[in-house]
Amino acid sequence: MDAGFFRAWIAEIAAVVETQRDHLTQLDAAIGDADHGINLARGFDAVEAALAQAATPTPGSVLVLTGSTLISKVGGASGPLYGTAFRQAGKTLGDVSEVDLGALAGALEAALSGVQRLGAAREGEKTMVDALAPAASALSKAVAEGASPGDALAALADAADAGAQATISMHALKGRASYLGPRSVGHEDPGAASTALILRALRDVALRQPG
Ligand code: ADP
Ligand code: MG
Repeated sequence: MDAGFFRAWIAEIAAVVETQRDHLTQLDAAIGDADHGINLARGFDAVEAALAQAATPTPGSVLVLTGSTLISKVGGASGPLYGTAFRQAGKTLGDVSEVDLGALAGALEAALSGVQRLGAAREGEKTMVDALAPAASALSKAVAEGASPGDALAALADAADAGAQATISMHALKGRASYLGPRSVGHEDPGAASTALILRALRDVALRQPG
């Protein structure tokens, strides 16, 4: 996977976030302040503009620029959290021009650590961590078992989806939704839902790769 692959992933995320903007905002309307889809759509528009302006010759540089742009352009909790996730993933990939599945798994684990360092959320607290953590574990496990790229990324996306669905029955303990206490139960967490979209976009871009 080269820089072009990672730029294609970001473009896919921007497109999916745009089509799912109202859905994500509705999820946030139920347990937050109804801005999650708007925040992400604005953020990934800015990322697309930044990637069109600057040279990003390596996978790491694509992800670092993505993260920095999200941090500077997105208000709300999700901007710094996603921004940190992409920046940490990019830094972990370093300045190589091609990365393999093992490196990608390491980058996702670094993204998760970055989110948890900043937001202090653990699994089960109804946040994006509930999609990201099982997804990162699923990818690492698939890599350790020698799975094909297609199977490994399918495992990643399926674990993220299942993790997001599992937030429906959780009681929010972090972020705005925690203000609702037990009334947050019964609604999918918007950040977990968007993490699942972002990781499904990765699988979908990989499926479209030649070879
Ligand atoms: P805000 O809550 O500031 O309006 P968004 O609506 O864009 O920001 O994002 C809300 C999402 O951010 C939540 O659904 C949750 O997944 C995530 N989030 C909030 N706080 C934390 C945290 N401390 N750790 C991890 N994720 C968090
Ligand atoms: Mg919000």
